[in-house]
Amino acid sequence: MSSRSLAAVPLLLATATAVSSGGADTAPDAPEAGSVEAIAAATGDPRFLSPWVAYLPASASVPSPRAFFGRIMGAPGEMVDTAKAHAYCRALAAASPRVRALTIGRSEEGREILMLAVADEAGIRDLDRLKAATAALADPRRTDAVAAAQLIDRARPMYYFNAVLHSDEAGSTEAVLELAYRLAVSDQPMIRRIREQTVVLLNPVSNPDGRDKMVEWFYRFLKGKTDYGALPRQSPPYWSKYAMVDINRDAHQQTHETTKAVHRMFHEWHPTVVHDLHEAIPLMVTWNGTGPYNPHIDPITHGEFLEMSLHEVQAMTALGMPGVWTWNFGEAFGHHYLDSVAMNHNAIGRGYETFGNATAETVHRQIRDGSTTMEWYRPLPPPAEVVWSARDNVNYTETGALSALDYMARNAKEMLGNFYTKGVHSWRKGLDEPPFAFVIREDQGDRMRVAQMVGRLLGQRIEVGRAQAALRLKEGDFPAGSYVVRLDQPYRNYAVDLLTPQHFPKEAGEPYDDISWELPAHYRLDVVPTADASVRDAPLASLSEPPRPAGTVTGTGPIFLMRDTGQEGLLAARYRLSAFGVEIAERAFRAGGAGFPAGSWILAAQGGLAGAVRAAASELALDFTSVAAAPDVPRHAAKAARIGLWVPWADTDSIGWIRYALDQRQVPYVYLRDEDVRAGSLRDRVDVLLYGHVDLELAEQIHGLPKAWGPMPYKKTPQTPSHGTPAESDDITGGIGWEGLAQVQRFVEDGGLLVTLGSGSVLALEGGIVRGVRRAEGGPSPRLGQGDAATRTPGAHLRVTFARPDHPLAYGYPARTHVFRQNYPLYDAPRRWLRMAYCTSCLDGPFDRSGVVLEWGDREGAPLVVSGQAWGEERLGQRPAILDMSVGRGHVVAFNFNPLHRDLNRGDHRLVWNAILNWEAIVSGSRAPRN
Ligand SMILES: [Zn+2]
Repeated sequence: MSSRSLAAVPLLLATATAVSSGGADTAPDAPEAGSVEAIAAATGDPRFLSPWVAYLPASASVPSPRAFFGRIMGAPGEMVDTAKAHAYCRALAAASPRVRALTIGRSEEGREILMLAVADEAGIRDLDRLKAATAALADPRRTDAVAAAQLIDRARPMYYFNAVLHSDEAGSTEAVLELAYRLAVSDQPMIRRIREQTVVLLNPVSNPDGRDKMVEWFYRFLKGKTDYGALPRQSPPYWSKYAMVDINRDAHQQTHETTKAVHRMFHEWHPTVVHDLHEAIPLMVTWNGTGPYNPHIDPITHGEFLEMSLHEVQAMTALGMPGVWTWNFGEAFGHHYLDSVAMNHNAIGRGYETFGNATAETVHRQIRDGSTTMEWYRPLPPPAEVVWSARDNVNYTETGALSALDYMARNAKEMLGNFYTKGVHSWRKGLDEPPFAFVIREDQGDRMRVAQMVGRLLGQRIEVGRAQAALRLKEGDFPAGSYVVRLDQPYRNYAVDLLTPQHFPKEAGEPYDDISWELPAHYRLDVVPTADASVRDAPLASLSEPPRPAGTVTGTGPIFLMRDTGQEGLLAARYRLSAFGVEIAERAFRAGGAGFPAGSWILAAQGGLAGAVRAAASELALDFTSVAAAPDVPRHAAKAARIGLWVPWADTDSIGWIRYALDQRQVPYVYLRDEDVRAGSLRDRVDVLLYGHVDLELAEQIHGLPKAWGPMPYKKTPQTPSHGTPAESDDITGGIGWEGLAQVQRFVEDGGLLVTLGSGSVLALEGGIVRGVRRAEGGPSPRLGQGDAATRTPGAHLRVTFARPDHPLAYGYPARTHVFRQNYPLYDAPRRWLRMAYCTSCLDGPFDRSGVVLEWGDREGAPLVVSGQAWGEERLGQRPAILDMSVGRGHVVAFNFNPLHRDLNRGDHRLVWNAILNWEAIVSGSRAPRN
C-alpha cells in the first residue's frame, strides 16, 4: 500500500463521528463542536493525524482544553506556561472523579511540580491500595509468589508520562494535557479499557523553571517567525538553575529537583513504565537502542521495551502516520536519564523523540539526517520535506501514547508479573551467585566521601548496613563500622551496575553518552565484592539515611595540623577558615609522633582558631591535631582565593555543574558573564579565573552567539518575569569577543591563575594565551577504519601518572591514579617554540615537559582503561592530562578532561581544589623552601 492511499484512512475516520480503534470496537464519542475542524486546520499534513486524536470528545461536565484555553492544544503560535497548565490540571481534577492532581515536588525557583493520576472512578478511589500493591510487588522478600499472584489479580500497572524535561522540546505539555482530558472523558472502548486496567500518571511540566523561561522566550523572540532557517536562538540560556540538556543526565546523582521529584514519585507509585517525551528526530522515534545493552538490566526489560516500541510503530503505521520508527537511536548501555529510574529499578524506561520545532509556529522543514530511508525498523519513512506544526507534534505524541497505553491495558497482568519477576531475579542472584555483598571500609582517607557515596546508594533505595562487629571474609578483614551492601535485595542489579567497572565492547558503535559510571571509580574508593556467603550472617545496622561522619580535634595546641589524606572537603574547609591563615606543607614531615604527607595543613596560633577548627572538623569530617610547635618543613601560604567563574552565554550547561559544586560547598565565587570579562579589571576582582568545559569550538568560545541575533536581552521584565536568573544580560550575543580574550590574557599576565577544564582548555591552548602547545596530529589508529582517526574516550575512567608528583596539584593523590575523561582534543607536550609560517621546513622546537603535571597512561604499564572503553588509546600515552604553564606573571592550568563532571567524579574534584588552594604557589612557580 502506498503512503498516498494510507493517507486517506485517518482523514476519512477523522471526519466520522464514530471513531474506531482499528477493529471491532465502536466508539460512542460525540466530537466537541468545531474540534474536528480546528484540529484538521492546525495539522500540517493530513497524514500527520490519527483518528484517535482528530477530535475532542464532547463532555457536558468536564472542561476540554479548547474550552479552557480558548484554542486547541497545538494551535499555531501559542505556548502554555506552567501556571496555566497547572490551572487546567486542577480544573480537570475538580470536574472529573477520574482525575486527581498531586504535588510531587518544587523546583529550584519554587514552582510546583504537579502530576495527574487518571483512571476510572474506582481506580482513583483506590489509589492508595493500588500504590500499596505495586510497592509490595517491588519487594519479593516480603511478597512470595502466591501473594504476588493475588496482588496482581487486583492491582494495576501504572504508566507515567513526563513532559518538557528539555525546555526547547516544547510540545509535549500540550499533548499531555489533551491526553489527560481524552482519557478522562472519552467512551471509546480502547480508552475505557485503559481507564479500567491501568492508572495513567501525567506530569505536564516536569521542569517548570525551564518551561516558563522557554514560553517567555518564545513570545519574546520567536513568535510570528516561520522561516525555520532564519530563526534566532531557539531557547533561553538557562533551562533551570544549573542545567540545560544535562538535566537529563542526572539519574545516578539526583541533583536537580525535577529528578528528585520523579524519583520520589517512582518509589511511591512504582509505575511499570516511566516515559519521557523529547523532540529531535523526524517524525517520531520510540526509544530502545541498538545495543550493546546494559548487562545488569533484566533481559525481560529488553524484550518488553522492544515489543512496546514495535507495537507503537505498527499501530501508528497502520493508522497511516509516516516516519514512526524505533531501534536505531542510542544504544541503551548507559541509563543516566530521567526515565532510567525505571530501568534501574526493575521497571521500564522509555522515550519518544518527535520532530518538534523548538517553536510553536508552523514551519517548512527538510529532512536531511538520513532518516527518510525505508528500513526494517522504519517501515513507512517520512517524506523528505514536511510542513510541521505544533499540532503535528501533539498528534504524534498523543497517538503514540495512546497506543502504548492500549498495549499496557491489554497486557496489564503480564506487565505487573514481569515487574515482580524482575525483582525476584535480582534478589535471587544476590542469594545464589557471587558476589554476595560489597564491603566498603570507612577509613579510606576521606570518611565524608565514603559517606557521600553510600548516600548515593541509599538515594537509589539500595539497602546499606554497617557492620556491628569486625568482618572476617575470604577477601580479608574489615573493621566494625564498615559499610556492607548485601546483594540479596531487589535492586541488587543496580547496585552491581553502580559498584563494578563497565566493560563497553570495543567493537560496538559510538555510544550515546558516558560509558562509565562506576561509583568507586568516580569517588576513587575501594569497594570490595565478596564471594564469602558468611557475610549474610554478619550483624548489620541498617542505614535509613546517609551517614554523617564528624572529624576529631586532638592535642593541646596552639598550632593545628591537618593530615592531607585526599579529602575532597579541603576546599570547603579553606573557606570556613577564610578568616585565618593556612600554610600547606610542601614535603612530608613528622609531628607529635605521626607522619604527615605533603599537602598537609599547618595553622599557626591565631585568635579564635580553635573554635573555627572544631566547627570545620565536625561539619566536614576532617581530623585536626594540635601541637605546641610548628614543624620544620618547607611550606607556602595558602590564601583563600577570590574565585571567578566565567560562564559564557553560548553554553551554560556544563559550567552549571561547577556552580552547583561550589554552591553545595558554600564556597563563594564571582559569576562572570561575557560582559564582565569584556569589562576587564579581572585581576582586581579575582585571583583564580575558572573556565569550565563547554561544547563550543574556539571561535564560538570567543565570539559567542551570532551578533546578528542581537540584541538579545535575558532580563526580568513584566513580559519575561522568569528571565534574568541565575544571571541577567542586556544582550547575550557576541561572547567575550577579542577584547574579552585580551582581558583574560591580561588577567594571567597580571599574576592571575587561569584554570581551564575539558574543551575550555581549547581557549587557553589554541586561543594563544599559552604558546607552544599543539593539538596532537591525527593519523588513523590501527584499530579503527580510515577516517576514524580520533582518540575517543566517551566518558571513561582512564589511568594517569603524575609527571610531577611534587606539584601542588598532586597533593592528596598517589603518583599513579585515574581520572574520568570524555572526548576532547588531545595535545602534545609543550615545545619551546613552534615553527613559523615562513619556515615550513623547520622543525618545531624541542619538547619542554616541565609544564606537564599529569600525563595519560600508567608509567608502569597497567591498562589505560579502568572502566568504560577507549579507542585510539595508543595516542594518549604520556600526552598531557594537566598542563601548568607560566604566562607573564601568572599561570594557566589546563585540564585535558573535566574533573567537575555532572557532580559524579568526586575523586577528581580535589585536582581543581588543589589549583584553587595553592594558587599563589602555582603562580609564583616556586615551591622553594620557606621556613
Ligand atoms: Zn531532549
